[in-house]
Amino acid sequence: MNLENDRYRLSGGVDPLDLVEEFGCPLYVYDAAIMERQYKRIRDAFKVKRLKINYACKALTNINVLKFFNQLGAGLDTVSVQEVEMGLHAGFQPGEIIYTPNCVSIEEIEEATALGVRINIDNLSILEQFGQIHPDVPVCIRINPHIMAGGNSKISVGHIDSKFGISFHQMPLVQRIVESTGLKVEGLHMHTGSGILDADVFLRGAEILLNVAKDFDDLDYIDFGSGFKVPFKEGDIETDIEELGVKISERFNDFCEEYGKDVCLMFEPGKFLVSEAGYFLAKVNVIKQTTSTVFAGIDSGLNHLIRPMFYDAYHEITNISKPNGKKRFYTVVGYICETDTFGINRRISEINEGDVLCLHNAGAYCFSMASNYNSRFRPAEVLVYEGKGYLIRERENMEDLMRNQIEIDLGSKGEPTSKGSEDKKVLIDQLLKGTS
Ligand SMILES: *Cc1c(COP(=O)(O)O)cnc(C)c1O
Repeated sequence: MNLENDRYRLSGGVDPLDLVEEFGCPLYVYDAAIMERQYKRIRDAFKVKRLKINYACKALTNINVLKFFNQLGAGLDTVSVQEVEMGLHAGFQPGEIIYTPNCVSIEEIEEATALGVRINIDNLSILEQFGQIHPDVPVCIRINPHIMAGGNSKISVGHIDSKFGISFHQMPLVQRIVESTGLKVEGLHMHTGSGILDADVFLRGAEILLNVAKDFDDLDYIDFGSGFKVPFKEGDIETDIEELGVKISERFNDFCEEYGKDVCLMFEPGKFLVSEAGYFLAKVNVIKQTTSTVFAGIDSGLNHLIRPMFYDAYHEITNISKPNGKKRFYTVVGYICETDTFGINRRISEINEGDVLCLHNAGAYCFSMASNYNSRFRPAEVLVYEGKGYLIRERENMEDLMRNQIEIDLGSKGEPTSKGSEDKKVLIDQLLKGTS
């Protein structure tokens, strides 16, 4: 989002306040041009014979976002059979989808296998079961290289006691299962977690994986996962993708030469591709001053964007209604009935009630983690594509909240008796029909 003549603009000159006008608030807005920029950056950073960038779609699963990445030539990284089905619906070929679940049932893995996608196995028990049932279906194996990375224990998944992957110390066991079942291993994979700070951590993991790879004869691809870091505020360290590209490409090309085959290099970024493309827009309901703090209470909460509360994530907040006002300090909070603070003591352009605030970096793990807590509707989503904003998900309504709930007969105590409750029933019926 750029500031031009006192107004913020998205790609193609789209004014975010016009989108709020048209689609209401709170609103998620995604800028397709930024997704494309990020995709091309990572694609162009690696100079190898075969490269595939698989979009880790748990970051943002709107079907249009999936279709957009499909159009760009990406593959898809999925973590549930439902994500697999969405990927197929979006037009990805089964061979372009890799399924990387953790602690799911063998039945779910069977479902994904039946859909023809690539199966990435991350524990010995499943590897053994799978090998016995499907010795003919090639698999990928998720290796844990025990590289500690990432800024938060919830998203750091490569350390020694992590539940993810098969320890590279257990490779003899893997080899024994492969030999006894006749399983074909077509890929090796690692994903050390979100928020890798420097190229060297990545290279350490890569070195371990390439070392393991030498012992497998039929590899078609090696997947280095993700964890690419993007800036959330000015001065933030970002993964230097270009530097990483140079270093990894050189190492990988050497490996292919030794291995005697052009193995495909894969990555599976989520955050890197969509974080910066997303904006969350919410109106200020109240300004509330206490003895020491000025609160700006917005028309949203941890139900819509939980990362600040869940991960202590920092999301830049700007007042897009008044870009150039005098800067003052605000603590921006939500309306949920527990502490849901989006940002403490932020310098923001002077806020009045009714102004629209923008939370930046709201593309990854924001809408996809949204819930109906406090019986609130989840927001609408808009995709800005070639100079126009398209509604890609409707705002929820009362019907969505009631869907799947089954009202049982609780006897006379549950029946409306007085006139008052009859009126209430009529009102609820009207709300459900959307005619209030
Ligand atoms: C979540 C996840 C990713 C994406 O991580 P980002 O930090 O969003 O890039 C990639 N691979 C796997 C297996 C994941 O679970």
